[in-house]
Amino acid sequence: MQLFPLFTDLKGRTALVIGAGLVADRKIALLLSAGARVIVGAHAAHPQVQARARAGDVELRLAPFDLAWLDEAWLVIAATNDRALNRQVADAAAARRLFCNVVDDVALSSAQVPAIVDRAPITIAISSGGSAPVIARRLRERIESLFDPALGALAALAQRKRGAIRQARPELRARRDFYDWLMDGPVLGALRRSRPEEAEAALEQALGRNTPAPAGKVLLVGAGPGDPGLLTLRGLRALNEADVILADRLVSPEVLALARRDAQVIDVGKALGGPHETTQARIHALMVSHARQGRCVVRLKGGDPLVFGRGGEELQHLKRHGIAYEVVPGITAALACGAYAGIPLTHRDHAQSLTLATAHRRAEATQASGGLGDGQTRIYYMGVNRLPVLREQLLADGCAPSTPCALVENGSRPSQRTVFATLDTLASAAAGHRVLSPALVLVGEVTALGAELAWFGQMLNADATLPDADRLQASA
Ligand code: SAH
Repeated sequence: MQLFPLFTDLKGRTALVIGAGLVADRKIALLLSAGARVIVGAHAAHPQVQARARAGDVELRLAPFDLAWLDEAWLVIAATNDRALNRQVADAAAARRLFCNVVDDVALSSAQVPAIVDRAPITIAISSGGSAPVIARRLRERIESLFDPALGALAALAQRKRGAIRQARPELRARRDFYDWLMDGPVLGALRRSRPEEAEAALEQALGRNTPAPAGKVLLVGAGPGDPGLLTLRGLRALNEADVILADRLVSPEVLALARRDAQVIDVGKALGGPHETTQARIHALMVSHARQGRCVVRLKGGDPLVFGRGGEELQHLKRHGIAYEVVPGITAALACGAYAGIPLTHRDHAQSLTLATAHRRAEATQASGGLGDGQTRIYYMGVNRLPVLREQLLADGCAPSTPCALVENGSRPSQRTVFATLDTLASAAAGHRVLSPALVLVGEVTALGAELAWFGQMLNADATLPDADRLQASA
């Protein structure tokens, strides 16, 4: 081991910081968060440090470094940009057997400040021994994304209940099982749902019984539109927790690749050859049976799970069967396609409302919303095979044939294509370019801005409706 990790209790103890620039200020903030009493010595101080001194958070000594300051300190940090001075501080600290960290200077440091993941009272510290701080920072980001923010609350609860747990589970083995159950079971879930009383009640109830097997649950997770960067951190954590993943056809392989390696992935998106209802019934049955066996089931859906994804029906089914669930939203196709096609969906000069509609159930939907007036953006899901019908409907509703439209195919994926057209030309342009599902239809003035603001993927327009090969054939 190159460095000995040590967690120090600085509450009420003095830390001496030499230097009062922004680098020093970051260390000062860290020391203060650990409850240290901080003395800052420097020739001059950054306004931020001055403000801390005025607020009484630190004691600022604007004077040359004084050896006597070391008498008060448990820990010394040198953070000036003068290496000779930093060395002098480090040497003086060493002479008194005080640990000294010189910021960004491994050679002069007898102690290093690690990269930190803070889930107080849990603290994770990462060190690369000064060899590659960037790697430590990257690791920190990864770990940060993996651990639930509710973990801190869980640890705090466990700390409060420590005596009761010890009493109810005097044997080490049984106690360990109990803590395992705490990590996997409904207590953490309740904390994540912001229900601390429920969490405490579940813990107390479990103490009275034999440690129950971890209860199964379903996490209904939005995988976003395809780009794995658009998965939420909470979604990523769910994928890391999953025992079983029921994935939709629309979920991209890049997102699935982020899942726990030993999770069982079941592709429920494939048509079974039977009617759609059969597929849905099978999904309902799989969720319930896996959860009943104590597993963590992630039901992974493209975009957002509650936007045209039948997620609502799945929740109702779980509720009816008494299965615990959580919902993790995702970036829905409308928002992703707007962003990735450079279409500001509610640009204030052009749109005051935004409607998300399905191109199916056309009759009721459009009757309810009426025609497309000025200042509206309307987005149709599942519309690519119904463009001629959609066009007729919108024209009948009084929408001008010249209304700008866009069709975004494979939004946010490397294969994204955007067709800019008008209501009149959209259907033929889509046919000419052979646009396939998944694609989103956007209607309204704002779509015209995309022609100027687009920044991702391929842009096509209504004129070049025939790909080159077809045009050659057509003219032959
Ligand atoms: N729950 C999903 C929508 C499911 S309905 C969401 O919130 O995005 C399926 C329809 O969504 C597709 O027919 C298509 O219209 C649209 N869609 C989904 N992903 C898309 C993508 N990457 N690009 C374009 N359209 C997409």
